[in-house]
Amino acid sequence: MGSLNQNYDVIVIGGGPSGYVAAIKASRLGGKVAIIEKKKFGGCCLNNGCVPAKAFLHNTKVIKDLKRAKENGIIVDPTYSIDINQVMKNKKKIVDKLVGGVKELLESNNVDIFYGEGKITKEKDVEVNGNVLKCKKIIIASGSQVNKINIEGIDSELVLTSDDIMSLDYIPKKLAVIGGGVIGVEVGQAFSSFGSDVFIIQRGDRIIPNMDKDISEALRQTLEEDGLTIYTDYSLCKVEEKENKEGIILHFTDREPLEADIALLSIGRKCDLSPIEHIELELNRGKIVVNDKMETSDEKIYAVGDVNGYKMLAHAAFKMGEIAAINAMGGEEGVDLSIVPANIYTVPECGTVGLTEDEAREKYDNISVGKFEFKDNPRALATGYTEGFVKVVTNADTKKILGFHLYGFGVGEIINECSVLLNVDLEVPKILNILHGHPTFGEALYEACAHSVGLEINLPKK
Ligand SMILES: Cc1cc2nc3c(=O)[nH]c(=O)nc-3n(C[C@H](O)[C@H](O)[C@H](O)COP(=O)(O)OP(=O)(O)OC[C@H]3O[C@@H](n4cnc5c(N)ncnc54)[C@H](O)[C@@H]3O)c2cc1C
Repeated sequence: MGSLNQNYDVIVIGGGPSGYVAAIKASRLGGKVAIIEKKKFGGCCLNNGCVPAKAFLHNTKVIKDLKRAKENGIIVDPTYSIDINQVMKNKKKIVDKLVGGVKELLESNNVDIFYGEGKITKEKDVEVNGNVLKCKKIIIASGSQVNKINIEGIDSELVLTSDDIMSLDYIPKKLAVIGGGVIGVEVGQAFSSFGSDVFIIQRGDRIIPNMDKDISEALRQTLEEDGLTIYTDYSLCKVEEKENKEGIILHFTDREPLEADIALLSIGRKCDLSPIEHIELELNRGKIVVNDKMETSDEKIYAVGDVNGYKMLAHAAFKMGEIAAINAMGGEEGVDLSIVPANIYTVPECGTVGLTEDEAREKYDNISVGKFEFKDNPRALATGYTEGFVKVVTNADTKKILGFHLYGFGVGEIINECSVLLNVDLEVPKILNILHGHPTFGEALYEACAHSVGLEINLPKK
């Protein structure tokens, strides 16, 4: 094994959202930094996750707009067809621009780039392509991979991962989505709008179980109106390929089988532990254990982003990367990930931050819930985007907000304001001193806050 005569302050393994931010931050703090990436910069988020899924779902929104245009007095031919090759070309253009942008950022910050699989050696250096790089600190940012379940037939090539489906060059006639979490509903709705007959299979009693129940119900209604079928309480036990691979048959415990051309397996993600194959670090259920400084059980090593399983979201990964870099360069900072907004970019969107109503009821004796529906919001009415609501969960004793749950067009943007409000931790009457422009969708947030403490004006008196 060769040794490159380099001695780095920080080596980052993985160039996804957590890794590239960590590398840039460490360099900005004066460090000599290297980053190692085995596939493409931007990681899952840019290449097979956040960005491609949103490019697809923008098409879904355009299609919905086309269908609604007549109501607004615009006469268009409501029939449409999808050029899947152009959809993928467009997605690739967006992804390439962003991936190239990450590389340029790293270069402009004088970060040394290595392509290959990075592994930490027993001596706690980093090996890549047969060479050993020496360093003072290592930041593992290797992210996560698609999770598989141990079920007969699951390895069939007709069962795709989210990575595979992001580059599919045809539109399946019938698509089964195994798992009704964030990825399942986003991809399912996108392919349904492209013309696939989509059904979603969920093991539990509701889709998107991590979100507030009201959002689950509203989204289920939308998806069913869009033509998707949702099977809840379905437990997959076997996948069978039809003759000549002409489709698959999904078998369930105590349920009739269902047939499809292909399936998307979207049942979660598991950490990529490839950097630590030669060393031991403390793990918890396959995730690298870290404290709030992103320190692992080894003082030389930090772990950030999906690989520590703390919050598997890109914006949380950015923040963790920054904090690890600060600490690797001699700082002493912790990260507070108690307030992390999360969106689902279906059409309409879902947004959440803070405690759900159920979680708040478990934790506090006295809570109140405020709600304002977009059907009563002037901007929503003016645009026709009247589906959904803003729901605010408040501690009735302190009048402080515990959680926001939104469903509607553009709520993926409004959730950022909700995040600010939770961070500043004001009592609701003080929040009501903050004016909102009129007419805006954001006024629904103001009204829901008012409703949560009985100060509403634009709702009928109870
Ligand atoms: C379909 C889908 C949609 C999503 N949508 C959203 C969304 O809308 N919003 C959101 O916030 N999050 C979303 N996510 C989650 C988000 O993509 C992840 O939370 C985020 O990418 C995590 O960043 P990361 O840097 O920890 O890991 P990753 O993005 O997984 O990056 C890790 C990188 O490390 C590299 N690597 C791994 N091992 C090694 C090694 N040994 N040597 C060198 N390189 C290595 C990998 O090739 C990869 O590039 C989505 C995920 C999926 C799958």
